[in-house]
Amino acid sequence: MNNVKRREIFRRLHEDNPEPKTELAYSSPFELLIAVILSAQSTDVGVNKATARLYPVANTPAAIYALGVEGLSEYIKTIGLYNSKARNVIEACRMLVELHGGEVPQDRESLEALPGVGRKTANVVLNTAFRQLTMAVDTHIFRVSNRTGIAPGKNVIEVEKNLLKFVPRQYLLDSHHWLILHGRYVCQARKPRCGSCRIEDLCDYKHKTSDD
Ligand code: SF4
Repeated sequence: MNNVKRREIFRRLHEDNPEPKTELAYSSPFELLIAVILSAQSTDVGVNKATARLYPVANTPAAIYALGVEGLSEYIKTIGLYNSKARNVIEACRMLVELHGGEVPQDRESLEALPGVGRKTANVVLNTAFRQLTMAVDTHIFRVSNRTGIAPGKNVIEVEKNLLKFVPRQYLLDSHHWLILHGRYVCQARKPRCGSCRIEDLCDYKHKTSDD
């Protein structure tokens, strides 16, 4: 992989989808934060179904905190690990109210201090809600970065560092979404769909398939 190829990969991903969006439904940084906490080991579709019921009733830290763990659980019990997620969300809401005036903080340290928020979640919120140049590496991005050779790394931190270094700057802000969507729908874990992949001629993966 070299920088000419990297640039062409992102030029094509941009051409196909000029304004990529997260598949989580949200209308404020707070709604996005909660949706991302709920999405750990769950599908975006499942989270969207739950938040479609929750947010019309409560979509601020104070309102969700007022529901309490049991009240919140009623809305999210279709989501995996809902018990611990409900506890984390209620505690996070308490901290947002008491420490941040009910607003979502825009710095990594404060975000990662919230229960249920790790580096990846903080990166998603900083990138997607606040348009900061951060890179959240999930399982899809880890796989695509390594297979293609765009930003190889042995662990997520290495891949994150290499993506920040190697993705052309003009594409950096949106590259998170392009890579997730590519991994979710084309470069799938068990059977990559190399036969219908837009970047097949630029990808370094040694075990390409003819599947489409
Ligand atoms: S060619 Fe295959 S391995 Fe490479 S990015 Fe496309 S789907 Fe993934």
